[in-house]
Amino acid sequence: MIFATNFKTNNTRAYTKEYIQTLKEFVLKNDIKDDIFVFPTFTSLDMFELPSNIRVGVQNAYPVQNGSYTGEIGLEQIDEFGLKTILIGHSERRVILKESQELIVEKFNYFKERGFEIIYCIGEPKEIRDEGVDSAMEYLWSEFDGIDIEYEKLIVAYEPIWAIGTGVSAKKEDIDEILSNLRAKIKVPLLYGGSVKSSNIQEIESIKDCDGVLVGSASWKIESFCEIIKNGIKG
Ligand code: PEP
Repeated sequence: MIFATNFKTNNTRAYTKEYIQTLKEFVLKNDIKDDIFVFPTFTSLDMFELPSNIRVGVQNAYPVQNGSYTGEIGLEQIDEFGLKTILIGHSERRVILKESQELIVEKFNYFKERGFEIIYCIGEPKEIRDEGVDSAMEYLWSEFDGIDIEYEKLIVAYEPIWAIGTGVSAKKEDIDEILSNLRAKIKVPLLYGGSVKSSNIQEIESIKDCDGVLVGSASWKIESFCEIIKNGIKG
């Protein structure tokens, strides 16, 4: 399984340091080999000494080395910490920050060309899901326009917008249906995200095409993230 935590706009620099240290100790003590990703805020980025299966990444970046893009960071700032992992296409960036598919593709290509591991997020809104699986799939495939789905360092995260931050995950059969449709064309790991927590992780990890989870709110405290990992490791 892959376990990823997206801090969004949460946690301080001091707490992130403590969080990552505790995570490292937990992983080493329990001899966990699964891949674990942490996406802290920009202000909490640092050089962390970690086992190779724990990777810190950025939640976003502008596709430039450096330049005049107020409020953004570029490759120069990411390189300073030796980071090689990025989250692209999260629905909060698509919807709240109005990021277009065109810009998302630009980011994807820029970081792909530089060998970054990319967690690429897709997800449909409720009204589309309510129209049925065909509409949902049409919407989701459109979020792959311009994206190289064969990129070897790609991980896809399916995150239905209506399940994010609501406390109510999509139903197992609905996730199953979408992931198996995606799996027909996509060979890279597939994650599910949307109100994953320690109480539903076992049900989610039992889904055939689910290779892991991207977790928001239930992972912002290290104890809960460790609990999710412990319960979610496939036996
Ligand atoms: C997310 O935003 O990536 C997410 C999955 O959030 P939550 O777990 O809070 O639904």
